[in-house]
Amino acid sequence: MAAPGPGRTRAEPLGGRVAASEVYTWEPSDATLAARWGVPVERIARFDLNTSPVAPAFLEGALRERFVPPLNEYPDSEYRELTAAAAAYSHATPDEVIVGAGADEVLDLVAKACLPAGGAAVVPVPTYGMYPVLTSQRGAEVRRVARRGQDDGWSLDVEGLVARLPGAQVVWLCTPNNPTGAPEPPETLHAVLEASARLAPDPPVVVVDEAYHEFWPHTIAPLRSRYPELLVVRTVSKAFALPSVRVGWAVGARPLIARLERIRPPGSISTISAALASRALRRPDEAAERAAGLAAERDWLAARLAEAGRTPCVSVTNFLLVPVGDFEAAQALARDLLRGGIVPRTFPEDSPVAGHLRFTVRSRAENERLVAALTRPTP
Ligand code: PMP
Repeated sequence: MAAPGPGRTRAEPLGGRVAASEVYTWEPSDATLAARWGVPVERIARFDLNTSPVAPAFLEGALRERFVPPLNEYPDSEYRELTAAAAAYSHATPDEVIVGAGADEVLDLVAKACLPAGGAAVVPVPTYGMYPVLTSQRGAEVRRVARRGQDDGWSLDVEGLVARLPGAQVVWLCTPNNPTGAPEPPETLHAVLEASARLAPDPPVVVVDEAYHEFWPHTIAPLRSRYPELLVVRTVSKAFALPSVRVGWAVGARPLIARLERIRPPGSISTISAALASRALRRPDEAAERAAGLAAERDWLAARLAEAGRTPCVSVTNFLLVPVGDFEAAQALARDLLRGGIVPRTFPEDSPVAGHLRFTVRSRAENERLVAALTRPTP
């Protein structure tokens, strides 16, 4: 999901009343960016997608074995093998797990199953841009709660959030949070879960998106036995380095998983994707090693950015949020970088991080290019 910004195309709004941050937009491709900014396509460096700079090592072996699952039949509609692999990796039982075509499809299932038209979802901002989009697509109200500012580590305003819970069907939380990079302290998550549970018999579903879990290996998932409305979302797109495979999953108590299963499409994950993701999830050490390597590289990049006068916010993830100034300053710096093929993440003008740019931690060579571009005197 992209914010409209330099070089980004904006999709047509679904209706007249939809705010800019509630409209779905696609990231432009490398080829589109190359043509737009007049750089050779091989010079495009994606600092905007929070993906891994290298492919997983196990893929080499899979290719050598000419690994191809049977493609003349539909995928197993129950995704037994994939669900078992995700469950084993997440220390859950298969009936506590639902799989989807990326974490994005799992989030979409939550919106479809839990958010009626005229309902409401609570969204602490800034956070992952799909939460307001999915909420708005269901015709539900987006109840934004501003996080505290950068000087307070973008911490959650728990009181403000709890005050907006009554009458909401969903709370979208993300830890570590995208785009700030900071983890949510467990006490904060407990406070939200407790406040939600007090709204029984109709507590909101508390989604805790742990897409960046492997970079900060704490999880709230074990609390599903105490809080049946808790749903923890994961993906193979980040530390597992398989965003093209499009596999995500969620862990929750059985009744909540059953509620989502009722609307899950039978074949949205291809057989190839399911098989590759299952293999990756059975090799968690590879992802853990990659996460550790990227964390070391993040610290290197953060130190170089600080030396260049661009001190990033504290991050435990594979991306860094850098304050630039106001919205115009962020857009101007983004344009300058794009002319050299470096693609940062920008944010819409009404976002609390409108004056920031977000950079994914890439390979050392690409990171050096970024540092050099930021150190160069502006013309
Ligand atoms: N949640 C968060 C917080 C994300 O940052 C992303 C991807 N940028 C997703 C979900 C979507 O992940 P997937 O590729 O599995 O759909």
